Amino acid sequence: MMLEKRASLDLPLCQECGGRCCKGSPGVWVDPEHFFAIFFSGQYLTLEQLRERLPGLGLVLWEKSGVPIPAPRSLASGCSFLGVDGCRFPVAERPSQCLALIPNKETLEQEQGCLCFEPEAFSRAAAKKLWEDYWSRGDSEQ
Ligand code: SF4
Ligand code: SF4
Repeated sequence: MMLEKRASLDLPLCQECGGRCCKGSPGVWVDPEHFFAIFFSGQYLTLEQLRERLPGLGLVLWEKSGVPIPAPRSLASGCSFLGVDGCRFPVAERPSQCLALIPNKETLEQEQGCLCFEPEAFSRAAAKKLWEDYWSRGDSEQ
C-alpha cells in the first residue's frame, strides 16, 4: 500500500472542499500491521490491551460490524481529528482509508454529500476482513 505519498486533504480540491468526507465519518486504518507500526512501533496488541491504550490516543474501537476496528472518535461535527487547518494527523499516520480516497470535483458541484471515490481495497468491508483475520490469529500469537 503505497499511500504515504498521497495526501488527499492537502490537494487543492480538498482544500477548497474543506474536508467534507471528514465531516461525515472518519476513515479507518484498513491494515492492522500498518496501524500497529504507526502507533505501537510494530508491537501487536491483544484486543484487551488495545482497548486500554486507545483512549490515550484519542481513538476508539468501532465494533458494530462485529469486528473491532480502531478509528478516530466521531463527533457531531465529524472526525475528531479534523482541525481548522485540516487533518491533525501527520500524513504518514492518517488512516489509510482517508489517504486512499480519490477526490472528485463533482463533490463540490453539489450542496452536500461526498462523491469522491473509495477504492475497493480500502473499503470498510476490506478493513473488516483484515481486522477479522488479525483478531482470529489469537492472542497467543500477538
Ligand atoms: S470530500 Fe473529497 S474533495 Fe472533499 S476533502 Fe474529502 S476527498 Fe477531498
Ligand atoms: S483522520 Fe484526518 S483525514 Fe481522516 S477523517 Fe479524520 S480528519 Fe479526515
